[in-house]
Amino acid sequence: MPCFRHKPVRFSIFASQNDSESMFDPVEIKKAGRILAQSKKIALICHKNPDGDTIGAALAMYHYLSKKDYVVNALVPNDFPGFYQWMPGSEKMHIYDREAKYVRQCIAEADVIFCLDFNSLDRTGNMADALKKAKAVKIMIDHHQAPSDEFEYCFSVIDTSSTGELVYEFIDALGDKERIDLNVALALYTCIMTDTGSFSFSCNHARTYEIIADLVKRGVDAAKVHKLVYDTYSENRLRLLGFAISSRMLVWNGLHTAVIRLSKDDLKRFDFQIGDTEGVVNYPLSMAHINLAVLLTEKDDIIRISFRSKGDFDVNDFARKHFNGGGHRNASGGNSKLSLTATLEQMKNILGQYRQALDYQITLE
Ligand code: 5GP
Ligand code: MN
Repeated sequence: MPCFRHKPVRFSIFASQNDSESMFDPVEIKKAGRILAQSKKIALICHKNPDGDTIGAALAMYHYLSKKDYVVNALVPNDFPGFYQWMPGSEKMHIYDREAKYVRQCIAEADVIFCLDFNSLDRTGNMADALKKAKAVKIMIDHHQAPSDEFEYCFSVIDTSSTGELVYEFIDALGDKERIDLNVALALYTCIMTDTGSFSFSCNHARTYEIIADLVKRGVDAAKVHKLVYDTYSENRLRLLGFAISSRMLVWNGLHTAVIRLSKDDLKRFDFQIGDTEGVVNYPLSMAHINLAVLLTEKDDIIRISFRSKGDFDVNDFARKHFNGGGHRNASGGNSKLSLTATLEQMKNILGQYRQALDYQITLE
C-alpha cells in the first residue's frame, strides 16, 4: 500500500496551481493497481506525430511493466524522429502506419490500455477507431487541458512539466519506485527535458527537480541525453532552420507576433525528414517584444500549425477556438484546411481581435 504524505491536491482535472508535490488520489491508484494485478496484456499508446514526452512515457512504462512479466506492446500512430531512436526499447515500438494489422490486434487483445500524453482518442489518428472499440480498461496519464470522458481512469494533472513526470508519480504511487531502473529513468528524463524545452518552461515546481535528481541518481547522464536529442542535426536540418528564420519569417510588431511558414517546396529543397521542423517555432520567441510565435507547415492535405507563447497569452484556448486544435497554455497545435497563403491571411485577421491581449511585457513582478 503506497504511503501518501499529502492530500492529493494536484489530482484530477481540476489541478491546483500551487502545490509543489504531485500526488494522485490513493483510492484511484489502488483501483488501478488492482486492475493491473488481474491483467496480462498491456498496450501503451502514444499520440500522433509523437514527441519526446509521449515516446518517453511509453518506453518508461514498457521497461517497467516488461520486468513485471506483463506482455507489453508500445504502439505509435506514425513514425517518430530519428533523435529519439537512441532510446532503449524504441526499436521495439510498433508503428501503425507500417504495421496496422498487428497494432489493431494488440489493441483488441489488451486487458489494459495506457493512453500517454494525450487526453482524447482522436489524437491517435487512424488508431482511434480501434481504441474506441477496445474491450480493455483505458487508463489515461496526461497533462493537457480539457480531458475527454473516454477513459475509465484519468490521471490528469495539468500544472506539471510532462506526462513523464506523472508516470514517475504513478510508478511511485504503486509502491514501485525501486523498479525505476536506468532504462526507465532515461525515458522519463527525456520526457521532462523535452517537454520543458530543457527546463525553460513548465518547470516551476520543486517536485520536478526532486524527480530529476532521483533520475540522475539512478544513472542518467543528463548532458549526454541532451546531446543525443538536440545535437544530432543533419546539415539540411540546420540549413532549413536558418532559411526559415531568414527567408520565411514575418514579424508583425503591432501584434507582438512572428510567423514562419514553410511550403512543401521549401521542405523538399532541404530534403525534409520527420522531426526536422521540431523546435523551429520556438526561435521567434527569443525576440524581446514577441509574445506569440506561429509555425505554418504545408502538408499533403492540410496546414499544420504550431503555436508558442510566452507569458499570459493562452495558445491552447486560441488553437481550440480558431484552428481545431489544443495543447497547453504556452504550446499548442492546430490545423487549417485553407491554403498556406489563405491560412496566413486568416491568422492575421483573427489576431487583430487579440491586439490588446498580446500587448504585454515579461517582467519579474
Ligand atoms: P506541437 O506544436 O509541438 O505539435 O504541439 C504542441 C502541443 O500541442 C503538444 O502538447 C501537443 O500535444 C499539442 N497539440 C498539437 N496539435 C494538437 C491538436 O491538433 N490538438 C490538440 N488537442 N493538441 C495538439
Ligand atoms: Mn507532454
